[in-house]
Amino acid sequence: MADAQTDEPGFSGRTILAVFAHPDDESLSCGGTLARLADAGARVVLLCASRGESGSVSDQALVAASDLGRVRSDELREAARTLGIADVLIYDHPDGELRWEDVPELHAEIVAAIVRYQPDGVITFAEDGLYWHLDHIGVHERTYTAVRSLGADAPPLYYVTMPKGVMREVVEAAVAKGATLKDTSFWGIEPDAFGDAAIPPGFVVDVREWVPRKLAALGCHRTQLGPNNPFARIDDGQARRLLGLEHFRRAPTESRWESIIEQLGEPVSSP
Ligand SMILES: [Zn+2]
Repeated sequence: MADAQTDEPGFSGRTILAVFAHPDDESLSCGGTLARLADAGARVVLLCASRGESGSVSDQALVAASDLGRVRSDELREAARTLGIADVLIYDHPDGELRWEDVPELHAEIVAAIVRYQPDGVITFAEDGLYWHLDHIGVHERTYTAVRSLGADAPPLYYVTMPKGVMREVVEAAVAKGATLKDTSFWGIEPDAFGDAAIPPGFVVDVREWVPRKLAALGCHRTQLGPNNPFARIDDGQARRLLGLEHFRRAPTESRWESIIEQLGEPVSSP
């Protein structure tokens, strides 16, 4: 494992833009990498296309005095602080309709964020949307199109995927530690759906040292994951083993820019 104190590449003066669909996507998909980039000196900017107002709620009491979109926006800002994200742009496109609604608006907002922040790299979902979530696929499509529209002058685009089988292992480890079936849900999604259709990564980023921050950021999303969620059940060693590698590949765009996120990663050879 790389020694973060001595071997970490410097990212001072560099900017990374991450584009996701809902509050919590950033923490679940690549919270460790975002925190590691921030710790290495990068300015990390997060664009979140919706306020997550349509998802299921872990505890209605948490939203009693407000509306869900506002609560989730606050949870996202807290998670962003935990990860060291410098700037958070939260848009109010309709949760659940991102693939079809406000398509030109979201395209224009992503282009505007690239123009404003001049990122050295952009991260978003891959084609599989982590688990074929249509909002995630919509954000993948919008981000790809936005970057492509800038041609060869665009920053490199990176797709993040989740390793297949990991969420199943997290659930099994949580059950072994006493979690009940009621507690083993990830947002009501079948664990095997995560990463099931992912294209193999081009490189992986070792974030074992950043897993506690990733879990803390996930924990900020209190209306999404209740206190007994599977991540809360597993111990530190299991969390580092199961969540300590984040998977990426560089998207096929015309960008002529040098690679950036790869500097943190280890290449994965094709089988
Ligand atoms: Zn999402």
